[in-house]
This record gives sequence, C-alpha cells and structure tokens, in this order.
Amino acid sequence: MKIDTKGRFSFPGGTHPPQSKNLTCESSIQPGPAVKQVAIMLSQHTGAACQPTVKKGDLVQAGQKIGDSDAFVSSPVHSPISGKVKEISLQSHPVLGRSPAVVIEANTENNLPKEPVFSEFTSSFSEEKYSVEQICTAIREGGLVGMGGAGFPTRVKIDPNPKQPKETLIINGCECEPYITCDYRIMLEWTNQIIAGVKLARKATGCSKVFIGIEDNKPQAIDSFSEALKTSGDDDIKVVAVKTKYPQGGERQLIKAVLNRYVPTGGIPPMIGVVVLNVATAAAIAEAVVCKRPLTHRVVTVTGEAIAKPGNYYMPIGLPVSEIIDFCGGVTQKSAKVVVGGPMMGIAIADLSTPTSKTTGAVTVLTEEQIGKAKFERRQTPCIRCGRCLEVCPENLMPTKIAHAVKNSLWDIAESYYIRACIECGCCSYVCPAKIEIAGYIKTGKITLARQKKKIPG
Ligand code: SF4
Ligand code: SF4
Repeated sequence: MKIDTKGRFSFPGGTHPPQSKNLTCESSIQPGPAVKQVAIMLSQHTGAACQPTVKKGDLVQAGQKIGDSDAFVSSPVHSPISGKVKEISLQSHPVLGRSPAVVIEANTENNLPKEPVFSEFTSSFSEEKYSVEQICTAIREGGLVGMGGAGFPTRVKIDPNPKQPKETLIINGCECEPYITCDYRIMLEWTNQIIAGVKLARKATGCSKVFIGIEDNKPQAIDSFSEALKTSGDDDIKVVAVKTKYPQGGERQLIKAVLNRYVPTGGIPPMIGVVVLNVATAAAIAEAVVCKRPLTHRVVTVTGEAIAKPGNYYMPIGLPVSEIIDFCGGVTQKSAKVVVGGPMMGIAIADLSTPTSKTTGAVTVLTEEQIGKAKFERRQTPCIRCGRCLEVCPENLMPTKIAHAVKNSLWDIAESYYIRACIECGCCSYVCPAKIEIAGYIKTGKITLARQKKKIPG
C-alpha cells in the first residue's frame, strides 16, 4: 500500500521558520577530508565523562577505545584514525566551554577518508542471528549515543528494564531544524542500513510496534522507506508522515504526533513505554552490531550561504570546525556567525578550533543577510507581554517567567516554572517581538543549576 506522504499529525505550539534546506538537500554524501589530527572529547554525551584509557605517546589504531567510564549513564569514545596520542588537554567545547580531549596525530600514510558501509546492507537483512545481549553489548562498546542532538547513551535508552517494559519504538526521521539535511540524505542513501538498525533495536528493546516518523516536506524519504519495507516484507514497521513544523523532531513532540500521547512534564519516554531513536543512530546500530565498527564517523551538513561548497560529508568525529570550513572551500563572503548545529538549536562558537562530536550534525555559517541585518544589530527591548512565547512553546511552559527568574538568579522560582522541562528549541526567542533571547537565558539557567547540583564552580 502506498503511504500517504501528507502529514496529518503534529503537536501543539511550535513555529515555521524558513527551511533553507535547498543549499544541501540534493547533495549526496561525499567523503570528508584526509585527516591530520583529531581531538576526541571525553564528554560528548549525556552522563558521566570518560576517563582516558590511553596516554601521551601511545600508538592507537582506528576504532580503538581511548576513553571509558564505569558509570551506567556514559558511553566510551574511540579513535577514528590510526596515529599517536599527542596530548590529553583541554579543548573548546560548544556547551562546556573547555573540556578534556584526547588529541591524536594521524599516521601520514594512513589518513585517507573512510568509506561508509551502507552498501553491505540489503532489504533481506534479518536480525535473527543476533542475541539481545550481543546487540546491547555492541551498542555499549561501540559508544553509540543519540546522534540527533541530545547524545543520550543508546545502551541506556534501549535497556530492557522489566520494571519499565517498552512497547513502542519510534524512529525519528523528522530533521525539523532549518538548513540541516544530513539525516535526509542518509534516509535516501542508507535506507537499508537504517532498517537493519531498526530491526536490531526492535529486538533489543522488545518493542512490538515500530513507527518511522518523517516530516511531510520529505516525500522522497517517505517513499524510500515505504519501498524498502515493502521489499523486505516487514509489515510491522510503519512509516508515518507527520506535519512539517518546528520542533517536530523533539522526542516528546514526535510521540504526540505519532501516538497522540503525552510524556509527563519532566518525565522521559520510557515512562510511557516508548523509545525514540534518531535515523542516524539506527544506522550506527547496524554498523556497530553487524560490522563491529564503533561510532567514529558521521555525516555532517556543512551549510550556510557563506560556504563555498555546501554539502553533506562523511567525516571523522573530532575534526576542528576550521578544517571542515577550509575543506568546503572556506567562506565566500563575510560570515556573521558560525554555528555548531542549525540556527534554532545550534550553538554559536567563537573558537573555530572547536572539534566536532558524535552529536554534531551540522556546521552552519550564517551571513549578516541570512540572520537578518535587523537581527544582527538587534537590540533587546522590554517585554510587551504579547504572549507569543507562551503560544509557541511546545512544552507548554511560561518562557518569559523562567527567563525573568534566571536573569534575577531566582533559582527556586525558575525550578517552580519547570525550567528543566525546556527542550531549548528556541521557538520563544524566534517569535519574540522584543528580541529577548529567552531561550539563551533559559539555557544558561539550566547549566547554572546543573553546576550547582554537581557543586562545580561557575
Ligand atoms: S521555553 Fe524552552 S521549550 Fe519553550 S519555546 Fe522556549 S526554548 Fe522552547
Ligand atoms: S514573546 Fe517576548 S515580548 Fe512577548 S511575552 Fe514573550 S518575552 Fe514578552
């Protein structure tokens, strides 16, 4: 049966920023640069940071584990290249400021771009020969984390916990963030690998229902999965077209759209028996379980009108942003902002030596014109109590109240307004006529609260 590519389901709130995906949506995945050096962050996931398992001067092989932790919520890190550990030092981190990383110099004769493995997967893939334990171990040891942005360790997410049985697996193919097309391209080019990962994840989680949610502005991706699933004869995996709206790719928003169910405020999807995995994570599961390759590379969209050669590139994790921009021909006009991620949820960086991580799906270079001259020179004015931020908040929060509490260091009040439930989508800032960086205040407040909890000096 042909799937209806018109999405009928969505979530309350949200907004419609310009998509701006045309720069790269037709760019097939190309190999990234030959690598001279990488810096592998020891903290590029939710949970405990890794401790290095190598030291300065050690020789490492591509795929070798170089950092790990005993904590349950954590994920090991691996070297994407063969080479020598130059140092373990603090490197720029988009969220944490400075963070420890293992810096590895590549062997000059062994630094050719790596090829992805999607061609090994066919529509007849069967998960039968892999046990649940094998799948879970490969996911844990392969260092898999949510590649859509949050970086939550996948092993923890799929944990077959009998106290919280999982019924439904949702694969997130929305990619609602403007400019970014890395997930779109892998949905078109790695369809069978993603489906193999979905089957493995289904077996590991024990979910009986599986949905692949895709925004209806990607009809080719919807068709691609529909065709592949028809060929594979697996009728239990359903493709669902959802409405194009930002942030449709948020876990909780996707669950509302696909299942018409709410995750309680402050809760997580497993509380209602649901697991959500990004399409890139599903592809990485197949690679880790079947090919025994850890997560060392990913597709990154390099985009923005200032980039000479925008496109989608399969790159080692840990490359400096400056090298990625150079590889893509540098900037062709005055850039106003370099963002790790997209313009809504991404983080603007000043230090271009910042290395990419497992969750870096894009590097976006915005010009003054793109971000709007007015916005570039934006001046914040007082809140006019228009209520637009409340209308668009997909989490039904009171953004202006939370931002006000953060500005005045009223942490108890910020918590009483559920600051921790904010998904940092940026919808409130986007619509605010007073140009108040509401989401920025909230993000800062969340970091401060997390530091207070861990008693980390600010
Ligand atoms: S308060 Fe948080 S969740 Fe709500 S719109 Fe703002 S950034 Fe998004
Ligand atoms: S959108 Fe801006 S001006 Fe309007 S209520 Fe919210 S903070 Fe105030």
